[in-house]
Amino acid sequence: MRLMLIAGNWKMNLTAGEAEALAAALRAGLDRDADDLQDEVARTREVMVAPPFVAIPAVAQALAGSSIALGAQNMHFEEKGAFTGEISAPMLKVFGVRYVIIGHSERRHVFGESDELINKKVRAALRHGLHPILCVGETQAEHDSGRTLTVVLSQLQNGLDGVAGPGLVTLAYEPVWAIGTGRNATPEQAQTVHGSIREALKDRYGPAGDEVRILYGGSVTAENVDSLLSKPDIDGALVGGASLKADSFIRIVRGG
Ligand code: PEP
Repeated sequence: MRLMLIAGNWKMNLTAGEAEALAAALRAGLDRDADDLQDEVARTREVMVAPPFVAIPAVAQALAGSSIALGAQNMHFEEKGAFTGEISAPMLKVFGVRYVIIGHSERRHVFGESDELINKKVRAALRHGLHPILCVGETQAEHDSGRTLTVVLSQLQNGLDGVAGPGLVTLAYEPVWAIGTGRNATPEQAQTVHGSIREALKDRYGPAGDEVRILYGGSVTAENVDSLLSKPDIDGALVGGASLKADSFIRIVRGG
């Protein structure tokens, strides 16, 4: 059985102090569930938050010993060197970061990250024992011209180039037109894409492709999360806006 993952991407929001307070509120709301092993939510859903880099130390402290995992929003593929403004995997691991979001649509479309760069990051994350969350998704124009599956499957294959086994990899399908817009894909639309991603993973990795979690992202809220997660190949959510308030994120984790 695939363990659901509900991941919060805080993007470029929250100062270190604000992030620490949000982490503490999430811990207060969610760790109680994890302490109770009978609790269905805690047994079936893993939770992760990805603060801005400079808030990671404060959030790491607030979450120490908690059931909530720590993630980063990006990383460089090299370990160190002359890469002004960048952060490497070893720097993240010092703070207990376990997940790293790679190839988010804002990295692809605002910062021009290519499939090739994204693939280098995925492979570097795996080399360092981090769990990459590889994001794929089509733009509005690609969606409108019927190219969704072509785009998504090509991002998938290129992103995983040279990755021998999917082990620590998580996928996130995030249609660009649904991110931060309040327009989410219907559960049926999302399942169609997730099902195709699943088939591609199984073609590539055999039965191991069945173990890979495929998250949906794009305007997920407490109101729509249940219907999305009811689909067979939707194994969790990558949440932006609604992860910035403790009550809405806790409601999403607990299921609407
Ligand atoms: C995201 O940041 O990955 C995202 C899906 O954002 P939002 O939930 O705000 O659409």
